[in-house]
Amino acid sequence: KLDLELVSVTKRYGTTVAVNAINHLFHHGSYVCLLGPSGCGKSSTLRMIAGHESVSEGAILLGNTDISQMPPARRGTAMMFQSYALFPHMTVLDNVAFSQKMKGIDKATRHKKARELLELVGLDTLADRVPAQLSGGQQQRAALARALITGPEVLLLDEPLSALDPFLRIRMRSELKKLQQELGITFVHVTHGQDEALALADEVVVMNNAVIEQAGPAREVFNAP
Ligand code: ADP
Ligand code: ADP
Repeated sequence: KLDLELVSVTKRYGTTVAVNAINHLFHHGSYVCLLGPSGCGKSSTLRMIAGHESVSEGAILLGNTDISQMPPARRGTAMMFQSYALFPHMTVLDNVAFSQKMKGIDKATRHKKARELLELVGLDTLADRVPAQLSGGQQQRAALARALITGPEVLLLDEPLSALDPFLRIRMRSELKKLQQELGITFVHVTHGQDEALALADEVVVMNNAVIEQAGPAREVFNAP
């Protein structure tokens, strides 16, 4: 059970300071929503945790280990990308199994694991389709299964529901919450929606101008009843 901790993490792009020495402890097993205006540094923060972007300064601890210099696949984190990042020519099963293939895991083992994940997200009957043959929500679930197959301690989600229509968004929202509770891992979810954060988050972190402005339970942060 590993907490994730950002210790004075800074990201610079040339002279732009996108993230300015932020500190935060993400409790293991909590659903955290990261909010704030466009350009305040949310995506950069997520990408640094995932290892898709280097940190300029600071440390990222998972438990007692500084993961900030590790390659993405070894960190114990995974990022759920928008569904358009699925490989269009591959079946859903092969998409979900892809990272396992890269790791050199044999076909029978990775397919078995991928089927388990597809069952978890309710897509087991659609394993042999290609992404274009799935609805928007189904593609989203496939992207989720693809991220979860690595067995992460921390799942990072960058506006995962923004491309969905309002009805589907509400449904996927409750599915995400249910899945997070079942898995008992940490979700860090970037969203623009205050309603989304109220529905999902154990904790809300608000960024503004490259720093964390406020953090706490959603109802407190939003002053909701
Ligand atoms: P948010 O996700 O909150 O919209 P970002 O982390 O994407 O914020 O961006 C924070 C700041 O860093 C913005 O000023 C943005 O223009 C800048 N930025 C983000 N990515 C890059 C990049 N690859 N190169 C240069 N500047 C970037
Ligand atoms: P610390 O754990 O750093 O000693 P607190 O327990 O006061 O300090 O929590 C710091 C922040 O984390 C607070 O905003 C609190 O709402 C939030 N928090 C505490 N425990 C949890 C938890 N189990 N899940 C989600 N958020 C939590």
